[in-house]
Amino acid sequence: MAITDLPSDWSFWILLPDREEGPEVVDASWNVELKEPLFFAQEEFTFISPFQVNAHARWADQSVMVEIDLEATISVPCVRCLELTDIALRTHFMYLYSLRDFVSSGREQEADEHIVLVDSLENRLDITPQVWESLILSLPLHPLCREECKGLCPICGASLNEGDCGCNRQAIDPRLSDLLKMKEDDLEA
Ligand SMILES: [Zn+2]
Ligand SMILES: [Zn+2]
Repeated sequence: MAITDLPSDWSFWILLPDREEGPEVVDASWNVELKEPLFFAQEEFTFISPFQVNAHARWADQSVMVEIDLEATISVPCVRCLELTDIALRTHFMYLYSLRDFVSSGREQEADEHIVLVDSLENRLDITPQVWESLILSLPLHPLCREECKGLCPICGASLNEGDCGCNRQAIDPRLSDLLKMKEDDLEA
């Protein structure tokens, strides 16, 4: 069974920094093991080791900024030659948690931050949906074993990375091939 949605046993919470005293930034980190592959955008991504989630929370005016860093190594078939390929992911996401009824203070929004509206900003924050979203957004949509991958021969299916298979891959005009087929049928009749 491949994973297609946020796993029900996932729970990522981060403590909020004390506004008066204590450290300005609170860190949290997790090592997450995904035993099943993750199926997304027609691809199956296998996590070959537990992936690392690091999160940092700090106050930004009346909101809380949480940075989420992900580190993972996945195995996925190359879209051209289908060979399983290991890809290292390192991504960084920023989420701004703001109270639903908080009127924007006119603070300039940074281009790469996402706003999450919450009902309360007390003690701790559930960042589980954002960890899942970060993971999904980290996945490569067009994974290649190498930039210059030559893919598979459309005729015999051999990997062209391993040398030429000898097939004649000159495109045949489909109308011409239909004519040839009709001629063959005639000869057989
Ligand atoms: Zn390839
Ligand atoms: Zn071939």
